[in-house]
Amino acid sequence: MTAELIALSAKAAADAISAGELDRAEYFAAYRARSAADELNAYVWISEEGGARAAPVSGELGGVPLAVKDLFCTEGVPSQAGSKILEGYRPPYTATVVEQLTAAGTVLLGKTNQDEFAMGSSNENSAYGPVLNPWDRTRVPGGSSGGSAAAVAAGLAPWALGTDTGGSIRQPAALCGIVGLKPTYGSVSRYGMIAFASSLDQAGPLARDVTDAALLYRHMAGRDPRDATSVAHPEELVLPSAQDLAGLRLGVPEDLTGEGVEPGVMAAFEAALAQAEALGATVERVALPHADYGLSAYYVLAPAECSSNLSRFDGVRYGLRTPADDLTAMYTQTRHDGFGPEVKRRVMLGTYVLSSGFYDAYYASAQKVRTLIAEDFARAFERVDFLVTPTSPGVAFELGALTGDPLAMYLNDYFTVPMSLAGVPAISLPCGLSDGLPVGLQLAGPAFSENRLLDAAHALEAAFGFDGAAVRA
Ligand code: GLN
Repeated sequence: MTAELIALSAKAAADAISAGELDRAEYFAAYRARSAADELNAYVWISEEGGARAAPVSGELGGVPLAVKDLFCTEGVPSQAGSKILEGYRPPYTATVVEQLTAAGTVLLGKTNQDEFAMGSSNENSAYGPVLNPWDRTRVPGGSSGGSAAAVAAGLAPWALGTDTGGSIRQPAALCGIVGLKPTYGSVSRYGMIAFASSLDQAGPLARDVTDAALLYRHMAGRDPRDATSVAHPEELVLPSAQDLAGLRLGVPEDLTGEGVEPGVMAAFEAALAQAEALGATVERVALPHADYGLSAYYVLAPAECSSNLSRFDGVRYGLRTPADDLTAMYTQTRHDGFGPEVKRRVMLGTYVLSSGFYDAYYASAQKVRTLIAEDFARAFERVDFLVTPTSPGVAFELGALTGDPLAMYLNDYFTVPMSLAGVPAISLPCGLSDGLPVGLQLAGPAFSENRLLDAAHALEAAFGFDGAAVRA
């Protein structure tokens, strides 16, 4: 019985609940029981009641459980951003996206594990321990939304919220064989999201299929007066229905030659392109001359913003405080005890690139590179509808394999960071396997092209026929 419930997509479950064919309390209880028995360390907190509150179904998502990345503030519920410095922090308010989804009918199932303050690509930077990949428990699920991705892939949640600053929805979605959408910057409110790099952070759905991702996104998007960078989506967001890619032009970045990409990933990517052509798309090479500098610019800008955002964690207002003899010693000791090594590395790097002697050389240059990359995308989208790349250069790697080498870890973000710098939407969907592990295909489109992007992903998904059911069993 439980297996049948878990096999339903979130949309199928929402439809069944509203038709009176599925009992929402029973559905919630099935997910709660599975999550409570979680051996992947995907959750840092699981709801006690949720489904027992058999409130009348309201909203399109009536009664469907939702897993939420730890860094979203949820009133009265631990919201720790994977950090020890926020251990036990229970905010007095709820993030706008979570509020909107609750209004649409979702029920909070749990908070998911993540890299500390969303800094990482493997979930190994969490103060609450690493998450295991359900496809192979000796491997990482990706990061930073690793708990959300593993929970959805393993059938511990029908769907989940994540955030993406440089790839943190798309890369874990790819490594766990699910769908992840990083929306257009500004289309979803950041209010109540514990900040990493505010000009890049964006919330988005992690889901089992493209339709579920579209359904969740539709209820997340919108202008929020409490986030001045948010805007109303110019289009009504609809569910995808395309069956083919007739007339679509896809662009493959010119310098994507396969160098640095695992051969199995490249093979799956090339097979995916062939399937796109069979569905009616044309594939051509496009120039993105500055994309290669994306990582370098990102690893200046994101730490710069992080060093500013994280200055609020000082032992006075939130979470941990290590008592000391004077105020400065209290600040220093609290931050020493509360932040993990990756966060400290980035705060130091960010402070350095913003310091008066180095600002122009690093921060200002990186901002210029960011503009050039955004212009590359704008030019490319004059020629093609979407850009396509592998989501990640490799499949899920072994736990511990890259923890000693931050630069090798950062290379995971090679294909995802440019879209974040340009602010454009991108989706990752599973397109095949390499050595028995999932490979993600990334499609990126112009700002606010989510309807068309999801439509194309929907057609491709049907053609790929990727099956993640075995890891949910
Ligand atoms: N892996 C990247 C980083 O460590 C991206 C993280 C993210 O998107 N939050 O910064």
